[in-house]
Amino acid sequence: MESKTHINVRNLNVFYEEHQALKDITLDIPDKKITAIIGPSGCGKTTLLKSLNRLIDLTEGVKVSGSVFVDGENIFNPGVEVTHIRKKMGLLSQRPCPLPMSIFDNVAFGPRIHGIKDKKELQNIVEHYLKETSLWDDVKDRLHTSASKLSIGQQQRLCLSRCLAVEPEIILGDEPTSALDPQSSLRIENRFRVLKDNYTIVIVTHILRQAKRLADYIVLLYCGELIEHGPAQEFFENPKEKLTKEYISGVIS
Ligand code: ADP
Ligand code: MG
Repeated sequence: MESKTHINVRNLNVFYEEHQALKDITLDIPDKKITAIIGPSGCGKTTLLKSLNRLIDLTEGVKVSGSVFVDGENIFNPGVEVTHIRKKMGLLSQRPCPLPMSIFDNVAFGPRIHGIKDKKELQNIVEHYLKETSLWDDVKDRLHTSASKLSIGQQQRLCLSRCLAVEPEIILGDEPTSALDPQSSLRIENRFRVLKDNYTIVIVTHILRQAKRLADYIVLLYCGELIEHGPAQEFFENPKEKLTKEYISGVIS
């Protein structure tokens, strides 16, 4: 019954100056499944997500204690190379943020940094990852035009292509569909469903219906505390905590 875990969070506390945003979070995130972090606005969802790849380090005045093990390695250990951690993880943000360059160069960006120069090889990589997000047919005739000309939904799929081209093991998404229209949102959701065969996916969402549609595993935060976590079906059909029941039924939101 117990499936393999990929990320293990142990007694994680995060403070912004005096404000404690995460309180002693201990949690295992399953391998090659979709985990949704849910909870009301301000409960610490983004903070938890940013702790998983140490993007939290970039926040001024932040203090972190506890551990986050990725593939068994505590990423907060002194001496751990942040670039090595980040390379394992692709990040999709709330608003798509394509680089100010062509569609082709956006996807080729990571592979070029990793030393791939051969033109044909780059072409194959770009085509492959644009197909992975079903964007290829939309853009194959204008690969060398600016990414900013794409619709927001297409931009988010481009960002997903760019993230996949770095060959991460983990995809993190902070409300990755919140800027998208319903159809574009479903497109992204559908890609996640396919991608989870090969990647561990962790998304933040405040849309309960999206968590129900998409997630295999649910993590509910409330005021910085971990209220309940578990397989999605169990979480929604047989919640253990009073707060979970209230959140699911919409008494609190
Ligand atoms: P969520 O993503 O669930 O809306 P966040 O993780 O963004 O929540 O924020 C959790 C809490 O920490 C909130 O009370 C928020 O105001 C606070 N917070 C977030 N970022 C900062 C920051 N850079 N400085 C100070 N407080 C912050
Ligand atoms: Mg947030």
